[in-house]
Amino acid sequence: RTGVWWDLNTCPVPAGVDPRRVRGCIESALYKEMGYRTQVHIEAFGNLEYMSSALLEEISSSGILVSHAPCRGNSLRCLLGEWSEDYPPPATVMLISGCYTMVNPSFFRSTRYNFFCVYPKDCRPVILDTENEPKAFFTESVWENLLNDNMNNNACEMMNDDDDDPLFICETCSDIFKICGEFITHLNSEQHINELFGIVPRDSDSYEPIHFCQVCNYPGYDDYNMLLHNQSEQHIRKLAASSRKRAPLSDGSFQSNKMQSFQRVKQEEVSSFRLLH
Ligand SMILES: [Zn+2]
Ligand SMILES: [Zn+2]
Repeated sequence: RTGVWWDLNTCPVPAGVDPRRVRGCIESALYKEMGYRTQVHIEAFGNLEYMSSALLEEISSSGILVSHAPCRGNSLRCLLGEWSEDYPPPATVMLISGCYTMVNPSFFRSTRYNFFCVYPKDCRPVILDTENEPKAFFTESVWENLLNDNMNNNACEMMNDDDDDPLFICETCSDIFKICGEFITHLNSEQHINELFGIVPRDSDSYEPIHFCQVCNYPGYDDYNMLLHNQSEQHIRKLAASSRKRAPLSDGSFQSNKMQSFQRVKQEEVSSFRLLH
């Protein structure tokens, strides 16, 4: 039995790739690495609040479980923890992610799974090099290469994870959906946002959420989730509507600051990781 966790935020489906073929590519890559076929459980996860319904529907149609699980490293540890109750080591686990809080060698070394690590092109997580201890990951590969190299090998189908139907799960609310449209509606619902208010970190004095959008009355789990929110169409639309009410001018500096903010968050994550180890 093999488990695959695919972080949709840091390893999206590249332009020109049919999302329905990703499953076949992952299975083919696993077969090449392992040399034999196993049952494969694939879960695409991350903050899915701003993803298109069509994309999630296509991913799901190939038998991939789709989970809204926005707490990054903490989400991965929870999902993997649940799976490991049914499938304890030895087994193979593939992590597809460029997120520094997920690709954490000391966490992976502490489990006894065989780990394959897949990260985005030009974005090899630097923490893979910060440790002198035994290798945490069995192999490393680049996400875009994995897809390109296995696009024509989809004939080699591995055994599907037939016991669970393709589903959509909101891990924040522990809700399960069979229909993608209902899942998307849920992620935008008041009930979901209220649940989110319950899990986000809060200031110890004021008890206000630490990451918060005043414009949308939206709490974020961390800086990264806040950036995803600030880039979302929903937020930009509300911001434009509220600034039209207040002031007519917009200087466009938001766009140019976007990349800088992402760089800053990455640097902060790397330095906080170094502090912890
Ligand atoms: Zn929810
Ligand atoms: Zn907002």
